[in-house]
Amino acid sequence: MLPRHSRFDGVCGGRLWLDGRVLDTCAGARQSELTEEASPITHGTEAGARAHNRRGETACRWCKEAGRLAQRERRRRKRAADQTNPTHTKEKK
Ligand SMILES: [Zn+2]
Repeated sequence: MLPRHSRFDGVCGGRLWLDGRVLDTCAGARQSELTEEASPITHGTEAGARAHNRRGETACRWCKEAGRLAQRERRRRKRAADQTNPTHTKEKK
């Protein structure tokens, strides 16, 4: 991923990009994460939050936020599923 060249908007390599420019940098982001090969953590995603945890790190604010939103979305979907199908949670395979 070459954000600078693709005029990328979003979060990549621990940086928040807008129109190919770095707006903000993730705390703990390493320069090496901007190289094409190495990017074990995709910041700003729930997977990124898990990757931080695997490294024994505290998730950066982008990952933390993404994880929080994903969790909230899952809870919301589960609630909706339970409401439309009350027996859903009792069913077993
Ligand atoms: Zn992160």
